[in-house]
Parts: sequence; C-alpha cells; structure tokens
Amino acid sequence: MASVQPRDLPSVDRLLRDERLAGLPRELALQAARDVLDEARRATRDGGWPFSPQDLPRLVEDRVAQATRPRLRPVLNASGVIIHTNLGRAPLSPAALQAAEEASRGYSNLEYDLDKGERGSRHSLVTDLLRRLTGAEDALVANNNAAAMLLILSALAQGREAIISRGQLVEIGGGFRIPDVMRQSGVELIEVGTTNRTYAADFEAAISPQTALLLRVHASNFLQVGFVHQPVLEELVGVGRAHDLPVVDDLGSGSLLDTTRFGLVREPMVQGSLAAGMTLVAFSGDKLLGGPQAGIIVGRASEVSRLRRHPLMRAIRPDKLTLAALGATLLHYVRGEAEREVPVWRMISAPLEALRARAENVAANVQGQVTETRSAIGGGSLPGQTQPSAAVALAADSADALATRLRRVEPPVISRIEDGRVLLDLRSVLPEQDAELQRAVRAVRAVL
Ligand SMILES: *Cc1c(COP(=O)(O)O)cnc(C)c1O
Repeated sequence: MASVQPRDLPSVDRLLRDERLAGLPRELALQAARDVLDEARRATRDGGWPFSPQDLPRLVEDRVAQATRPRLRPVLNASGVIIHTNLGRAPLSPAALQAAEEASRGYSNLEYDLDKGERGSRHSLVTDLLRRLTGAEDALVANNNAAAMLLILSALAQGREAIISRGQLVEIGGGFRIPDVMRQSGVELIEVGTTNRTYAADFEAAISPQTALLLRVHASNFLQVGFVHQPVLEELVGVGRAHDLPVVDDLGSGSLLDTTRFGLVREPMVQGSLAAGMTLVAFSGDKLLGGPQAGIIVGRASEVSRLRRHPLMRAIRPDKLTLAALGATLLHYVRGEAEREVPVWRMISAPLEALRARAENVAANVQGQVTETRSAIGGGSLPGQTQPSAAVALAADSADALATRLRRVEPPVISRIEDGRVLLDLRSVLPEQDAELQRAVRAVRAVL
C-alpha cells in the first residue's frame, strides 16, 4: 500500500462535511478536525501515519468523544485499601445516594421549617441524629474535618493560645498540617512535652491567662511505639476543667462502631471521647463513618453555638447533597444496620471465607489464581492494621504494564502489585461489582 502523503489529506472544511460528523457540536468538531489533520500532516511527512484518509472522520469522532467524556469517573478499587483518599474515600450506601438524589432533583426543605412555614436552619437537619448517636449536647457539620478544625480554632482561640503535645503536631496528607491550620486560624501554638512523651503536667505547666483551649490530635496515619506517653483523655479533661478551658479532640476518622469486633485494634470512638468529657470532638464524614465528605463537630452546646454563629461557618457550610447523604448514613447507625448497609463496614466485616469464595469465582473467569493477602483500612485510620483478605493474582511478564492496562479499561481497575504479581484484592470490591470487575479484566486479557 502506498503510504499516505500530506497532499492526500482533505482540508478541515471538507473533512467537516463528512456526514458522520454532522451531529457533533460544531466548535468541538472544528478543533478536533484541526488537531487530527495537523497530526496526520506531521506524521505523513515523517512517513509514519498508520491510518488512511477514510479513517479521518472516526478519528475526529473519537477526539470529540474524549473531550466530552466526564472527567470524574467511577473506578473499581481492587487495591485492598478500603478508605482510599485518592479514590474518593467512602462509597455511599444506596439509601445515602437516593437521599442525595431526591434532595437535589427538585426543591427540598434545606432551610425551610415545614411546620412554621418560615425560614429554618440547614444545621438542624442532622443534629438530633448526631446527638442520639454520640450522646453530645449539640452538633454541627462543616465541609470537611479540616474546615471543622479551622472553625473551632478560629472561633474559640483566635488571638490567643492553644496547647498541644509535640507528639501530635501531625501532617495528615494533602497539605493538612496541624501547626499550619493553627497559624491560619490566628492561634498561637504552644507546644508541650517531647516528640515521644507528653504528660498532663506538661499541659498544666503551660497554661497562662492567654490560653484559650487544649488540643488533642489523633495520630491517624502513623504509630509511635516504644518509650512513648500521652495523657489519657480523662487527664486532659481534668486539666481543662481545673482551669475552665475547653478541651478539643481532633479524632480524624473516629468511629461510631467498635473496630475490635472485626479483629482490629480500637479506633478511637466518638462516644468515648465525649464520655471522657471532651468539650468538642471533630471527625470526618467520609472515613470510618462511611458517608459523604463532611466535618462533624459534636460536643457542648455553648461552644457549638459559638461555632454556629461564627462568620467562617457560612464559608464552610455543607451543601444539600452532603446533608442528605449524611443524614441517610447516620440513619443506618440509628437503625443498627450500619454493618449491613454502610459500604465501608460491609467491606470491613466481610468474612474471609466469603472473600475467598468470590475470589475463586472471579479467578476462574479471568484465568487468575486465588491468593491470600492482607488488606488495609486506609484513610488515616488504624495505621499498620491489616485484615486477612483474598485476592486474584494475575500473571504477567510485566506487572507494571498489566496494572497500567487495567487502569485504562472501562471502568478502570485499580490493582496492587505485590511480589511482582498484580493482585485484585476483593475486600475493597463490593460483591455486586464482581461481574463488572471480571468483564474489565477480561477486556484486558483479550488484547494480550
Ligand atoms: C483526616 C484527618 C483530618 C482531615 O479531615 P478531612 O475530612 O480530610 O478534612 C484532620 N485531622 C485528622 C487527625 C485526620 O485524620
């Protein structure tokens, strides 16, 4: 076949007159036609254009399809990390999704009191649920936990001092560093103790007339072992009470369920912090709670009410989709069905035998091998803790190349490479996604 020459290529106008391109958005088609012809001209000059002029309309169509494809797309998380921040953290339950959809398809009572027929408050929508679940006097929801901490520090300690242990000046990831947040809130950071050991007496000794609050931050994503000490919550609360100072707990993930029931160590529980007497407790909506992105604050009514009235609150308030999904997620806990309905807990509580049976089924369909592995919780909770899991191992000359191809199918599959093998860990895949996972992997296998 004679190779295509630049002179064999049509003009942009002529290419656009092809009937296959008639239905495409004009501007996008024009841009795509220009780009495709530019590339073709360059490649034909260099003698390496693998197409014929008849392929041009299809190339333009593909280009337009690329440009109009949604950028945020569903992926299958076979990495074995359940709360994967890069993959959107917690998947939502069907009820949470339905609530978000129903609240936003039309109008809602977001800020409308249906009894009185007058303006209401969005902040009251989930307050009673949070109070019931945690035992708190009052509750408030912000855009995320970073915003919640910014609000707490700004409202309660701006222009004054907050005391924190040197062992808790942590960086969570994504640029969230406790010292930076404190500075941003106009709060002077008073560090006490040492990297590995801090005592209640260190807090006591640092209290001055300028002190506004005592802060505890959960070490979400790292472990300190060996010669280490932190005051227990009750001791910190005791110091706060003695000086009439609020004690604030940034729990990070926090949990409403006891993680020891699933063979894990105990992730600090929100109820526990409040029972210990913490004034305010802040935690994320999309970590172990298993809901939408949100920052939840629970605690003493007088402080929560100060936060609610602070001007920053308006800038970090949650939207209706969040409040709807969060409300539905909290209802799973109120009804005692969280383990069965909230995807994060479904994954954590999945028995190994069930994962193994699913892995065998998937493996048989994609010519893989079942292998035992360990999955992680992730999302800044339970660092170093893993659960036994079952995975499908896929043999490949290059594990990297196979993992890349898996990311390029539809839907993209995120795998994990271990000992030179590509693993599909089924703990972070919901059972109803197994068929889709198989189809995606087979699509990759088919072109090998
Ligand atoms: C994750 C985390 C945050 C940030 O929470 P976002 O909801 O991601 O904003 C803050 N503090 C701690 C201790 C965390 O683990």
